[in-house]
Amino acid sequence: MSKAILPQPTPMTPEQADFAARFASYEIVTLVDRCEFEPLELDDGRYFHSGGVVRILPSHMRIEVIATNGAEAKLFEQMLRAAENFRDGKSWAGCLTFTTQGSAGDEWYESERIGRFLPTAEPNSMFLVVPCDDTRCTERWHEYDEKTALGTPIVIHNGDSIDHPQGHYTVTMIRVTAEGWRLEIEVPRYELTVFSARSLANDINWLSIECEKLNSTEAVAA
Ligand SMILES: [Zn+2]
Repeated sequence: MSKAILPQPTPMTPEQADFAARFASYEIVTLVDRCEFEPLELDDGRYFHSGGVVRILPSHMRIEVIATNGAEAKLFEQMLRAAENFRDGKSWAGCLTFTTQGSAGDEWYESERIGRFLPTAEPNSMFLVVPCDDTRCTERWHEYDEKTALGTPIVIHNGDSIDHPQGHYTVTMIRVTAEGWRLEIEVPRYELTVFSARSLANDINWLSIECEKLNSTEAVAA
């Protein structure tokens, strides 16, 4: 396994700029791996902590920044920034040395495994990332800094959300780790017109029913 730290970005050489220009219109997608990657002890006593890899998928016209489950959120952010700077032709981070994968005509590119070398097996940062395991959640991954007594990361899932067109309120379905779905209601001003108030009541009612449905399905499944 080849490993790389995320060094300071450098200006691109003409060849690097040519390579990056091929992907200038690609979408950047962030994902978190399902598998855990234990810190790797090296011969010199240090540990390699994996942040993740970057993949370029021409068949999907996208660049995937894939964090390792349990990686430091800050490193993930730096990887994302490096991928953006690469796509936008601004700078080159040394770890973005891509090897070609796949077959002729259907190639894709994968970076080295990006990470950090630390003196201990413990991560430096409190904020780590984890893939989202809730199918109703609109996020693909979450950041967390605490775990439950069972060792599960404490995360807040976001479900359907309704925004009032003029910003009078927002109603969002949320769920904290293994608890049931509930509603988060934001009303920036205390006063509402009768029309907005009625609309808010309707939206609360609608999303409450959605929460109840999901919570009862889960109660049955459990
Ligand atoms: Zn989620």
